[in-house]
Parts: sequence; C-alpha cells; structure tokens
Amino acid sequence: MSTDASTGSIDIGGGVTRSVRQLADGREIAYYDASPGHARDAVDRRQLDDAPTHTELRHDPLRDEWVVVAGHRQARTFLPPSSECPLCPTHDDQLTEVPEADYDVVVFENRFPSLTQHDSEPDPLDQHTRHGFGRCEVVCFTSNHGSALAQVTPERLRLVLEAWIDRDRVLSAIPGVEHVFVFENRGVEIGVTLSHPHGQIYAYPFVPPRDAQMIQAARSYRERTGGSLHADVIAAEIADGQRIVHDGEHWIAFVPRAARWPFELQIFTRRPIARLRDLSDDERAEFSTMYLSLLRSLDAILGVPMPYIAAWHQAPVHGDPQDSRLFLEVFSLRRAAQKLKYLAGSESAAGVWINDISPEDAAQALRDGLRLVTA
Ligand SMILES: [Zn+2]
Repeated sequence: MSTDASTGSIDIGGGVTRSVRQLADGREIAYYDASPGHARDAVDRRQLDDAPTHTELRHDPLRDEWVVVAGHRQARTFLPPSSECPLCPTHDDQLTEVPEADYDVVVFENRFPSLTQHDSEPDPLDQHTRHGFGRCEVVCFTSNHGSALAQVTPERLRLVLEAWIDRDRVLSAIPGVEHVFVFENRGVEIGVTLSHPHGQIYAYPFVPPRDAQMIQAARSYRERTGGSLHADVIAAEIADGQRIVHDGEHWIAFVPRAARWPFELQIFTRRPIARLRDLSDDERAEFSTMYLSLLRSLDAILGVPMPYIAAWHQAPVHGDPQDSRLFLEVFSLRRAAQKLKYLAGSESAAGVWINDISPEDAAQALRDGLRLVTA
C-alpha cells in the first residue's frame, strides 16, 4: 500500500485506490476507484443532525443469543422515489449521502446503524446487556440507480470484490470486532428499503450464531474423522454431480443437498481458504465473470428479477481459522413467478425447514438459466 500525499488516496493493490473522506455528521465515506485521476474532494453540503450513537445488545438466555435493539431505525428512509435516492451521486441541489457528482464503488457508514463505534465502553451495562458496539457500512455498487449487481461489467464486479476485501481488512483491525459479515439484500420482497444497487457490511462484536454453529460442526467432524467437513462435502457434491451449477477452474457452485430455500447456491473456491483476503488474483478474476453469470441465471429462471440474499461466510477475526472456510451463499425466497416462500411456524418457530422445490430440480433450473444468459 502507498499513499498519494496530494490527494490522501491509498493504493490498496491491483491498481485500486481508496480515498477516505468525512460526511457532514462525521461518518466516514470511502471511494474505490480502479482508474487514477479521481480527486474525490467534493464536500458534503448538508446540515445533518448527529448520527445515532446508541444501540443495545440484549442477551436471550433461552437461546444463548444476542439481539440488537436499535429503536432509531424505525425512522430510516423507506422506499423513497428515485429523485430522492440517498445513494445516488449528488446533483445540483439534490444532496445525497455521496457528495461526488459520480462514483464507481463507494462505501460509507450507515446513517441508521444497528451497531456503532460510539458505544465503545468496554463494560457490559449489566449481565444481560451490552452497548451495541460494531460498525455498519453501505456499499454502493454503481452510481446508476436503475441498474443491479447482475447488470454491471466484470470489471466493476472485480472492483466491488476488491472493496469487500479491503473493508474486511479495515474492519477486522478495529479492536473489539470479532466477525465481518459482507452481504447483499436484493428486492423489496426481502425487505430492502432503498432500491439503488447496494449491499452492506456488519462488523459484529461476536461470532454470529450461524457461523459459530458451522465452525462447531466442522470441528466435531475433524475430531471424529480426522478429515475436513468442507472438503468432504464438496467432494461428495462433485461425485454426485446432480446439483453442480458451475464447475470452474477455481470455483465450484452447487445447490446444497439439503437446501432450505427454493433456489439456493453455495459457492466455494476449490482451494481451501478461510477469508476474503486470502483470494488469489486468479480466483478474483474468475469470480468476476462466474458470479455475474450466476446472478443473471437467477433472474432468467422465472423471467422476473429474483429477490435474493447473498452472504459471505468466513473465519472470525480472531482465533484458529482451521474449521472455517470461505464461501458465498446465495438464496431466494421466490418459488414461482407469483409465489414467495414464507417462513411460517415450522421454519420460524421450530427451526425445521420445508423446501417445496427439490434441490436437484433447482440445480437443473439454474443450469438452464445459465445456458440462456451465456448463449
Ligand atoms: Zn439511487
């Protein structure tokens, strides 16, 4: 890494620069550029109230899990018209979260965060309550309001990937952060409140229960068999073959044998790595084309834009990463053009999932979708 003294921009490698600035209420904004010559020196001209500083973590003793209580989020911007989109670049008097008149990829601290660094007091409030320490960031994939991650170029997706990797590095270095979770919610059906193409990053002060459960499963398997659970699951999927959707040089994507959602993918590197920052140059390059094709195939299956959640699972910030493995999970709650899968009693209250589409049929539909979008 090197810093350009005239602009304060940092070369993070691969020809990408990060330029960090401040918004009117003190929040950080970081512009990511794959080409030189962007000053990124526009000033935020808004008068903003101070960003919310307090949220709370309450421990649920019955399930031994933490719940975030963030009452201020009730007031957050909800499905504004495109003329008032806070994620678009600033134009004339339409002042947004991004002061520049254009951008490639930009990341900033969420104005309505679930977790904040202001609550950095180390002591718990009481035995069952902690300050909601952490950090929540918004990642805008493009300045084009009407676009989608599935519609960007491979070069732009590569820049998004480099930004994800850099944010993981930056957020992991914050004392008290234990897990960095990179994800995208797409579609109003998922609960997205802003339609501009964007994702989010949460830096948690603990390892989320889903990841902790997966680490425990891999550890038990290793202690019982001496083998790697992830490697053996991937080998079994390859041997079976029915649910493989992408079989690339560096990446493999399949519908898991026990998929919970109507359309669900797990995307692994062939090489066992634990963290986003471990991705090699070749793996990053193949990801940029593979992931675009997979997202486009999701949209092609039913002929309507597919709402989805995409989430990176990786090793916690601290501790031994040997029972963690990096993978990207993508799933949709849409089961037909006009039908959604709702999480009802069995899924929501008992934790037992019922999938209405066989994973083998879903994999076939995704392969058919891939043929359509790559034809
Ligand atoms: Zn917008």
